[in-house]
Amino acid sequence: MKKLINLVLIISLFSCQNKYYTMDDFASVEKIDAHYHIYTAENNSVEQAQNDNFKLFAINTYSGGCERVVEDHRWLKAARDNHPDVVAYSATFCLDGWDEPAWTANTISWIDQCLADGANSVKVWKNIGMEFRNKDSVLIMIDDAKFDPVFQHLAEKGIPLVGHLGEPKNCWLPLDEMTTKNDSGYFSRNPQYHMFMHPEFPSYEEQMAARDRMLDTNPDLIFIGCHLASLEWSVDELAKWFDKYPNTAVDMAARMGQLFYQTVNEREKVRNFFIKYQDRLMYGTDIIDRGENGEAFQRRMHETWLRDWEYLISDNKMTSNLINGEFNGLQLPKEVVNKIYAVNYKKWFKSLP
Ligand SMILES: [Zn+2]
Repeated sequence: MKKLINLVLIISLFSCQNKYYTMDDFASVEKIDAHYHIYTAENNSVEQAQNDNFKLFAINTYSGGCERVVEDHRWLKAARDNHPDVVAYSATFCLDGWDEPAWTANTISWIDQCLADGANSVKVWKNIGMEFRNKDSVLIMIDDAKFDPVFQHLAEKGIPLVGHLGEPKNCWLPLDEMTTKNDSGYFSRNPQYHMFMHPEFPSYEEQMAARDRMLDTNPDLIFIGCHLASLEWSVDELAKWFDKYPNTAVDMAARMGQLFYQTVNEREKVRNFFIKYQDRLMYGTDIIDRGENGEAFQRRMHETWLRDWEYLISDNKMTSNLINGEFNGLQLPKEVVNKIYAVNYKKWFKSLP
């Protein structure tokens, strides 16, 4: 009997140790960066991804003009054709010709061409709602009925819409009131998108409401909300949104700072959120590869990936240049970590890099 108890003790100790990953497991676990950008024909990203056992979901974005969209589509197609085991990518579409009746048919045919080339999804960006105007200078929001045939087309094909809509809530605050340094840094460099300085534009709440009306109109559309669906400031709000829209998942790209920020004072709440919504969350960084500074760039990729791994798998005491204050890692169970890093991506995008 005593022997049996000892055996049970040893087994339970063993299984407890095996419930969590360690820092040493980083290289051996399959991981996908579910929000990445490659704007180059250079190979730095793929090389580093292979070194760190990552796959890359590279997102094309309609920023910087329609020619850039077409050019990036070519780079992404080449990256995937050359490294189908590492790279997957999204299409995006332009708003040039929006006021012409042919825009809808042209856009659908461009999307179909990109999907035939190998794209697995379609991205919409914050310029819808924050920048683009029609010929009468009316700001176009994401719930504009003109988008619906495009979204219906995606829903019928089971193709996810990847959406960066609106901005972090910090965007509507002055720089010195923002909760994370990545936001105050970004908006000081990009004042054109700093909505606190542009009160004539829609409010944060109006951006979120337009996105939700679009989802109400398109209940069969699979929607992947970039950057924690712009609900990065509160895991409670994101939980409510998940409950209301079952056909959605999110990436956490460029919003780790907001997760760290909430973890400083409410670690258990954040951890419970990750466990409850473990099927809806995907790891991502928003790293942009422009083909510059090969080695320094690769070092930054590695360090970013390693920092986030530490936060998700360990309970180490951590600091970050993204926020003030100390916080402990979430130490999520292996099963949850596997979902966040790979299983969920494969499920939601129905494709493998
Ligand atoms: Zn991005």
